[in-house]
Amino acid sequence: MTHVPTRTSVAYFSMEICLEQAIPTYSGGLGVLAGDTLRSAADLAVPVVAVTLLHRKGYFEQHLDASGQQTETPVHWKPEEVLERVDAWTTVTLEEREVRVTAWKYVVKGVRGHEVPVYLLDTNVPENSEWDRTLTDTLYGGDDHYRLCQEIVLGMGGAALLQEIGYQNGTIYHLNEGHSALLTLQLLEKQLIGRPAFELEDADFEAVRSRCVFTTHTPVPAGHDKFPLEMVRKVLGDTRVSLLESSGGIHEGMLNMTHLALHLTRFVNGVAMRHGEVSRGMFPEYPIDSITNGVHATTWTGPAFAALFDRRIPEWRHDNLYLRYAVSIPLQEIREAHAASKAALLEEIERRTGERLDPGVMTIGFARRATPYKRADLIFSDLDRLTAIARSVGKIQIVFGGKAHPHDGGGKELIRRIFAAREKLGDLVKIVYVENYEMALAYKMVAGVDLWLNNPMKPLEASGTSGMKAAMNGVPSFSVLDGWWVEGHVEGVTGWSIGGPELEADPTRDAVDLYIKLERVILPLFYGLPFAYAEVMRSAIALNGSFFNTQRMVGQYVHNAYFPNGASNASPAEAIALI
Ligand SMILES: *Cc1c(COP(=O)(O)O)cnc(C)c1O
Repeated sequence: MTHVPTRTSVAYFSMEICLEQAIPTYSGGLGVLAGDTLRSAADLAVPVVAVTLLHRKGYFEQHLDASGQQTETPVHWKPEEVLERVDAWTTVTLEEREVRVTAWKYVVKGVRGHEVPVYLLDTNVPENSEWDRTLTDTLYGGDDHYRLCQEIVLGMGGAALLQEIGYQNGTIYHLNEGHSALLTLQLLEKQLIGRPAFELEDADFEAVRSRCVFTTHTPVPAGHDKFPLEMVRKVLGDTRVSLLESSGGIHEGMLNMTHLALHLTRFVNGVAMRHGEVSRGMFPEYPIDSITNGVHATTWTGPAFAALFDRRIPEWRHDNLYLRYAVSIPLQEIREAHAASKAALLEEIERRTGERLDPGVMTIGFARRATPYKRADLIFSDLDRLTAIARSVGKIQIVFGGKAHPHDGGGKELIRRIFAAREKLGDLVKIVYVENYEMALAYKMVAGVDLWLNNPMKPLEASGTSGMKAAMNGVPSFSVLDGWWVEGHVEGVTGWSIGGPELEADPTRDAVDLYIKLERVILPLFYGLPFAYAEVMRSAIALNGSFFNTQRMVGQYVHNAYFPNGASNASPAEAIALI
């Protein structure tokens, strides 16, 4: 067994991290997961330190005109108001220039006071050229060249800066998605110190591999980050390109961040059972595990359910497994807590949009990044059918939210289609689209709707986490069997499925199934048997809230990825995490 010294830390690298509403440095699920991971690591006192970029211009503010046309403006936020400047710096070499990298610090505090420091890298310093100063401005902005330079700053700059601060040989590196894979190049170069690149030996690769773990989040080859070799040669130079070649990072003539990460890490995982299967299909030459995502329970449970849990199962705050005991909560109390969450959401919607929704009407929520594979408009495939269902079984209102990436034409088109459907549907099916889907809005939406709808095109949803947030608040999911729902779904118990269990999508069947189940199962239950509906809500908490949380997930990373040799040699801090 390897000895884990007291100062071993896990350095968690992520291109985006959702720290709090006032720090707009994330675009969606990947960032929210990163934030929830750090919040649970802090609760469990796991020795984690995190690295990301500052994203000084934030992830834009969304504006939608009357036809649903999206425009964007930068979010103005002031790092100095929420972060602390760090007195340390390093450099990365881009196109033979030295670019200076500094950082800001944020501290995530756990329930018992443990602190997880987060370093947000910044190149906007006077020593750098005008262009280099913009490198840490825009999340997923610019062209491939800008992205490559950003990823060099994140991976190589981040690793070097951590070493500068004092995180040395004991450090374990966790790559949250491939964006930070170039940190392995920095570690290899450290390994090489004083020797020419051609003298690299298997033992050097092994030394890097033994310290790195990798979580992949992308279920299709096209989603993996890659850069043309000529560009990489120009930016990083010939020597580094040959290092990357011998590291397995060059695939089909491109620098492929996923291949680099797969080759130079000792543990690789997908983010749900199904995603592990899909990833093994894509990369059969690598052993790929699964650790299913979760959400940070106390962050995503709204005030009404938090108060109810505090009263009935107070242990839930420090041990999320106790949410299982929600089975003992009287259904009437579930109904009251949900009514309070729904009232809070409707009030927020009125404040933001001026639209007043009816608390007595079945309210469906659909919010996530607006991008074609998420198919936000599936429920509008047949407007006549939808109207007929609302007329014969009961009214429906649907709350939408989600930003389209500025370059995602398909995503923007999707938003316009929702606006067009709203025009055509009358009062029987009322639609609101709330701008700027961010942490604060998500917090109210996942708790306040009656049903959380999710219908991505299979197998493109690696995990999905918003349905897990809904479950924490007793909101059942109605979802395609992809991502986390493959393992979270018990038909009629925790929610309902759309389509069958097969791997490939059947878009026609998905739409038909969605209407049939709404008409014959979900709406009749909601309007006709409200206590039976509340029973589904309660089971969503007990069965899914107790499992799909980051406390369980971080525990699995500790056991399986970070310290696979067990707790017996772990430091006191790690031992706490393993209890
Ligand atoms: C949870 C969350 C997401 C991710 O939702 P998915 O269902 O995984 O797509 C995206 N954006 C925000 C603001 C969130 O809170």
